[in-house]
Amino acid sequence: MKKQRKWYEYLWIVSVIYLTLGFFNILFAWLGVICFLTPLLIAVSKGNKAYCNRYCGRGQLFELLGGNLLLSRKKAPPKFLKSKWFRYGFLAFFMTMFGVMLYATYLVFQGANISKVVTLLWVFKLPWHWANTSMVPDGVAQFAFGFYSVMLTSTVLGFVTMLLFKPRSWCVYCPMGTMTQGICLIKSKKIDKNKDKYLS
Ligand code: SF4
Repeated sequence: MKKQRKWYEYLWIVSVIYLTLGFFNILFAWLGVICFLTPLLIAVSKGNKAYCNRYCGRGQLFELLGGNLLLSRKKAPPKFLKSKWFRYGFLAFFMTMFGVMLYATYLVFQGANISKVVTLLWVFKLPWHWANTSMVPDGVAQFAFGFYSVMLTSTVLGFVTMLLFKPRSWCVYCPMGTMTQGICLIKSKKIDKNKDKYLS
């Protein structure tokens, strides 16, 4: 009998729609904040990685493209990619760049000129002149440009990693994955400590 698919197995469609909407109106980038906060909230409240295991549309997308559509070489990722120093180093770099993006947003709220570009891989400035952001304050639009840059950059990195290695190799060093894993680890240690307290 064919296994009934669960609704969350189709969340990859949401990821595709999200990336596509950004081309039509950059303000849709704000929706990505949900993908940023949900894994953290689940990790903090439940102490598990249910988001990664079930609800991450991006992870599903790589699985689909690399696994089902055979776009992946399906080679094991290099060891350094899995190492702690690389994963936490990349997380630190990623969060620093995220902070720079937030600062740029703050400056625009303070009156600086908005920069209507999407920055790919933190270096390449892609003009996004067609974006009509007149309905919101410039600071709100600046955040959308910055956040979409983050989302597009991580998707491109994930896509290249998928091509070169196994379909979900991006998950090995994905900053969200590293953060949620760290939170789960801290939570499980706390639970263990509490258990020890009650058992001793
Ligand atoms: S590690 Fe990142 S890309 Fe992979 S499933 Fe988790 S949040 Fe999604």
